[in-house]
Amino acid sequence: MQDKKNFETEAIRTQTERTEYSEHSTPLFVTSSFVFDDAEDMRASFAEEKQKNLYSRFSNPNTTEFVDKVVAMEGAESGYAFATGMAAIFSTFGALLNSGDHIVSCRSVFGSTHTLFTKYLPKWNIESSYFKVNEVDKIENLIQPNTKILYAETPTNPGVDVLDLELLGKIAKKHNLLLVIDNCFATPYLQQPIKFGAAIVIHSATKLMDGQGRVLGGIAVGKSELIQEIYLFSRNTGPALSPFNAWVLSKSLETLAVRLEKHCENALKVAEFLEGHPKVNWVKYPFLKSHPQYKIAKKQMKLGGNIIAFEVKGGIDAGRKFLNHIKMCSLSANLGDTRSIVTHPASTTHSKLSEVDRLEVGITDGLVRTSIGLEHVNDIINDLNLALNA
Ligand SMILES: *Cc1c(COP(=O)(O)O)cnc(C)c1O
Repeated sequence: MQDKKNFETEAIRTQTERTEYSEHSTPLFVTSSFVFDDAEDMRASFAEEKQKNLYSRFSNPNTTEFVDKVVAMEGAESGYAFATGMAAIFSTFGALLNSGDHIVSCRSVFGSTHTLFTKYLPKWNIESSYFKVNEVDKIENLIQPNTKILYAETPTNPGVDVLDLELLGKIAKKHNLLLVIDNCFATPYLQQPIKFGAAIVIHSATKLMDGQGRVLGGIAVGKSELIQEIYLFSRNTGPALSPFNAWVLSKSLETLAVRLEKHCENALKVAEFLEGHPKVNWVKYPFLKSHPQYKIAKKQMKLGGNIIAFEVKGGIDAGRKFLNHIKMCSLSANLGDTRSIVTHPASTTHSKLSEVDRLEVGITDGLVRTSIGLEHVNDIINDLNLALNA
């Protein structure tokens, strides 16, 4: 192993061994399986006495390169790549939990993750208890003898709240829990939860890792012995990332640092603009001084990220009206794209929740979530301004 290099260099120079063609950029290995020299080579490979690719459900040079990069960027020991972020989350639970185990999780998690907690994991007798973002002092009261995982995402989707990773790490250590962090909104460029004691870090690579709205992907990285469990579970259940998507994602990681710098610079300017706008009730952006967890964000994040939550004055109708007057930004459910995106969770992604449940996770009727892209910031501000004033 060579010495560990700086983040940007690891993202660019971590590369699959060159083939006989001496290509500069990694080729695409579109192959479902791999061949063996003879019976002994095949036997030894299957016995895992050799490090060899056998079948692309298990590993493939493109997925391995993508995984190796994220492992280096997160400071993890190993990882496994998935077809989607949800596949990474489900497989982590499937591999690490047994019937009768219990999860303590923040209530503000990605919608499908919450559905796993409430609808699917209970089928295998795995129950969950929740704490609100502003009730971290109550976490320890929720821990039971059978609690195995402490789960959270930070910043949260869509409320952009921030949880104290140092505190979560301490609680997990004290109670011998596995801290699992969905690091999707921050990316390893802004924050590395393993430094604070996370056992597993999960990403939807669909978002800022791809960064260009092209492919779906997911990854879990962390402690080797846990990743080995996740790998064995996944190699048998089949949620593997496709080589093509892995190739796209690995290339995207080469520009993650420079993209994030610009995303965050634009987002801070937009957040400051929104904060001064008369049609806006409040703005939540981790690096605005008015953010309730500003100090924690400053402590654990390099920059504030590219997601802003704000509330348009006038409730659900004002929120919808605002969306209808957006001309440039995209109305889309994705985030972390070069293109700025606007969503109104109360009438779209979270419309199936009751009002009480929505308010519990901070989704008020006028809440708008924006993913700030890489267009010129003046054009983004202009678009939002015209729609607010309409
Ligand atoms: C999008 C998202 C996911 C799910 O990822 P997919 O790739 O869409 O399956 C999980 N967590 C967070 C925070 C997300 O934003």
